[in-house]
Amino acid sequence: MINEYSKIGVLKGIGEKTEQIFGKVGIATVGDLIRYYPHRYEVYEDPVPIGEVQEGHTVTVTGAIYGRVSVGGSPRMQITTLYVKDLTGTLKVIWFRMPFLRSTLARGGVITLRGRVIRKRDGLVMEHPEMFYPSAKYEEKRHTLWPVYPLTSGLTNNMVTKAVKQALEVCDVGTGILSDRFVEAYRFVSYKDALCGIHFPETKDEYIRARERLVFEEFLLFILSLRMTKVKKERVKNHYCFREQPEIEEFLLRLPFELTNGQKEVWREIRQDMTGVHVMSRLVQGDVGSGKTIVALLAMLYAGLNGFQAAMMAPTEVLARQHYENITHMLLEYGISLRTELLTGSMTAKEKREAYARIAAGEADFIIGTHALIQEKVEYKNLALVVTDEQHRFGVRQREMLAAKGLYPHILVMSATPIPRTLAIILYGDLDISVIKELPKNRLPIKNCVVDTSYRTTAYHFMKKQIAQGRQCYVICPMVEENETTEAENVIDYTEQLQAEMGDSISVQYLHGRMKQNEKDRIMEAFGKNEIQVLVSTTVIEVGIDVPNATVMMIENAERFGLAQLHQLRGRVGRGSHQSYCIFISASKSKETKERLEILNKSNDGFFIASEDLRLRGPGDLFGIRQSGTLDFGLADVFQDSGLLQRANEAAEELLLEDPHLQKEEHRMLKKAVEHTVAAVALETTL
Ligand code: ADP
Ligand code: MG
Repeated sequence: MINEYSKIGVLKGIGEKTEQIFGKVGIATVGDLIRYYPHRYEVYEDPVPIGEVQEGHTVTVTGAIYGRVSVGGSPRMQITTLYVKDLTGTLKVIWFRMPFLRSTLARGGVITLRGRVIRKRDGLVMEHPEMFYPSAKYEEKRHTLWPVYPLTSGLTNNMVTKAVKQALEVCDVGTGILSDRFVEAYRFVSYKDALCGIHFPETKDEYIRARERLVFEEFLLFILSLRMTKVKKERVKNHYCFREQPEIEEFLLRLPFELTNGQKEVWREIRQDMTGVHVMSRLVQGDVGSGKTIVALLAMLYAGLNGFQAAMMAPTEVLARQHYENITHMLLEYGISLRTELLTGSMTAKEKREAYARIAAGEADFIIGTHALIQEKVEYKNLALVVTDEQHRFGVRQREMLAAKGLYPHILVMSATPIPRTLAIILYGDLDISVIKELPKNRLPIKNCVVDTSYRTTAYHFMKKQIAQGRQCYVICPMVEENETTEAENVIDYTEQLQAEMGDSISVQYLHGRMKQNEKDRIMEAFGKNEIQVLVSTTVIEVGIDVPNATVMMIENAERFGLAQLHQLRGRVGRGSHQSYCIFISASKSKETKERLEILNKSNDGFFIASEDLRLRGPGDLFGIRQSGTLDFGLADVFQDSGLLQRANEAAEELLLEDPHLQKEEHRMLKKAVEHTVAAVALETTL
């Protein structure tokens, strides 16, 4: 019998090579496969007349193949082009890296194509569509809901769909981790129905019921794994000795700005924590641009000037380097003789060894970097403080890793994610929470506008004017569908077009996730120095980047992002004293999209935006955009599912009251899953 622990190779049609490809997204067993959830669903609508096709929409068209199918482009990136024609018009269609299509598609054949239409230099183009040939094949899918899975190169949606379908048919998925009593009490659907309903829902209701059970399980596991870890709540004694440092007061006086009241208050709390009986565990929440970095720096100075080491951990290398450079620069400028060290995963082995040596010898006071900071090889001389920036899960595990080295430092977590307080308490029950409510006074509120694509040229003119005044701009590139490999092409293509538009005196450069680390660093550094005026990017710049001279953020396809993410993106501007602007471009005509974007248009307040987003989307939003970067659950979303989170929390309380160690037979599966979750989180944080 095939069960969830069987390797996926037992499924028909999955050979060694396919197994490896699935391995790239972390699927090894049948269980992994059936828990590889779609990230959205497609509805296959009726084809539209080609003459009515609009930019920015995903549509289906049916027509005859017009003329010859040609293959061009470069050998590395072959582009197959065809024209499809119906009574109302002709549309250009291209595919990347699929030259073999030419021999399968006959001139005059009737074909149905479904894909996103974008505007290129020579007009509208449907890029990399799904193809139904002959056209009759489309009938099978018409009006059905189809899962869309996260993919990687080599892994197609069809491969995943087929494999999941087969797995659900042949595999005994068991009854899931919830006891029968539980399922009855909460009136959940069965585990099998939940899995079928999440992958292949026949109705929206089926999807909602399926999702409800699975999300509840995710939350329950998460909460239980937090509760089951012993370090929590056991407050560690503070054995570090801190004295007031007059140099910090001087530093504050010489800063070009005064701290906001919120910053002052948090700084006071931090000093109190660091001189208290127990070590600090504090979460500082503050909207983008509220000035969290300086507060973190004060805490680091406090440690450093008292003769201790302080570490600062950032989620990305770009951000780590930015912090490193800013902090190094400030120390120099203010004549504070503390030494900084950068530590990131992309450094060479030799560079790392040298850095380790300086850290161990106490020749580095501030150590700034990525996760590499808490890896086992790093030996600190006298670490007293760990700051994590924009990190939402600095949790029990990371603390345990430090504890394993005999380290119990003060912990300061900085986050811009607007999590409601009640939620924060569930999630970070072991942290004290500070909130910086106001933005620095010198800020002019960002001016927003939501416009359609016809406004693009006007926006470019506006950017030119801003650049003439010495300012800089960001453009978030249109998103490409599913196919990760073309994302880079897309950014490069867009950059070329924009460069032509802007003229030679303006430097337009791009940044995307697939670039090498040192390339990214080089671009960010040049942008920081205004050697680049326009930065075209994917969402890699979302987190934390601080270039106060940038005043324009233009976001293409704004409708495809979650509000919280758009708010983060917008937070890249409005960071200095100049008036800043955010232009949301959206081709969508739907009322919901307009209403959603209108929230951003009206408000610059992250907390308000998150709650409005939640209100508008409501539970079980089938096509809603998952908030990225909040907490990495498979399905659950702490905003959208806050009701279920609350219920799971209550359930966890009851459960642990009744069976503190989950020893009862009916909790056997649950216990196993909790242990597994704890281990998985541990693994994740060691990578
Ligand atoms: P975030 O909270 O998003 O991490 P940062 O710490 O990057 O924000 O701060 C954004 C910008 O605001 C930085 O350029 C910083 O120097 C500046 N800043 C911080 N505090 C103040 C303040 N009290 N007054 C004016 N500017 C400030
Ligand atoms: Mg920041």
